[in-house]
Amino acid sequence: VSEGLVLKNGTRLQYPINGFHALVVSVGLLLLLLWLGVPLGSLFDLLLPLAVCTTGLSFLLSFYLYISSFWAPPHALAPGGNTGNPLYDFFIGRELNPRIGNFDLKYFCELRPGLIGWVVVNLGMLMKEVELRDEASLAMLLVNGFQLLYVADALWNEEAVLTTMDIVHDGFGFMLAFGDLAWVPFAYSLQASFLVVHPVELGGAAATAIVLLNGIGYYIFRKSNSQKNVFRRDPKHPSVSSLETIATATGKRLLVSGWWGLVRHPNYLGDLLMALAWSLPCGFSHLLPYFYVGYFTVLLVHREARDERQCRAKYGQAWDAYCQRVPYRIFPYLY
Ligand code: NDP
Repeated sequence: VSEGLVLKNGTRLQYPINGFHALVVSVGLLLLLLWLGVPLGSLFDLLLPLAVCTTGLSFLLSFYLYISSFWAPPHALAPGGNTGNPLYDFFIGRELNPRIGNFDLKYFCELRPGLIGWVVVNLGMLMKEVELRDEASLAMLLVNGFQLLYVADALWNEEAVLTTMDIVHDGFGFMLAFGDLAWVPFAYSLQASFLVVHPVELGGAAATAIVLLNGIGYYIFRKSNSQKNVFRRDPKHPSVSSLETIATATGKRLLVSGWWGLVRHPNYLGDLLMALAWSLPCGFSHLLPYFYVGYFTVLLVHREARDERQCRAKYGQAWDAYCQRVPYRIFPYLY
């Protein structure tokens, strides 16, 4: 059990950190189903009805969240989701941490159903390929393996979600409910479902290069995220104490060497390299598998701009000095 950041009324909420256990239990149950002969490949034929159902479920949940938020005390409301415009507030979310007893609805939806659902859909696509062609292709195995690693990593580091914008700042409304329950499992598994319909023969050299690209992306993503987490939790920790930093008026310091001296968002760079590695196994015959890289680039460029604005407002001149020392945002010498 871990505590979240301090809320407006000075209290902190408690959160169970057992997402990784949930993944292990889910994967164990899936393997049991496979052993019992359950045709997981049927998920391929059910993709559209399931996506429609989860979208319907997101609407139902959002209506519940919107209506129940009117019983929440004023200090429990999100700053951005209370404009008085019902459509906008329904979309962005009025209440910050809606709970039923101790069960935190936003925290639960944020990582578990979507990310674990994504792994389940991917495995279903792999089984469909086995049904159709008697074996799983190398391309399908790579896509499944890369994305399972990403999901396992997010759930292993579940505690880190407690300091993200989604948990700290945003209310729980349709945007997050739809994103978590419908968008992630069905849009992020596009490469695996594409490979069912468009088989790709991947050579050894191409596969090695793609594995290397995913490995480099993952290394940058994990190392940079961990370096900042360690630095924010304990700046005197031996792994970060020798890094160069600059002081800010808030008392917090900013890293200007190490990963955060390479570009101002090295974790986004790693994430994007991985996104490319997930699309490349699908070959170049179609644009569809590259949808994720394109969409994710737009999402992270926009997110970076939003974060940059918040940091400039928080740190003023110190942030400008950081930008002068580290001129590139995400891609060294490019952007
Ligand atoms: P970040 O982890 O990038 O955090 C940004 C914050 O880090 C800033 O607000 C600032 O906060 C601190 N910071 C910035 N620069 C420095 C510095 N030089 N030294 C020390 N602290 C600094 O935020 P995100 O939540 O956007 O990303 C987390 C991860 O999640 C990323 O790897 C991202 O790629 C991934 N992600 C994945 C998504 C997906 O759909 N797959 C969607 C969104 C994100 P402060 O100073 O207050 O500590």
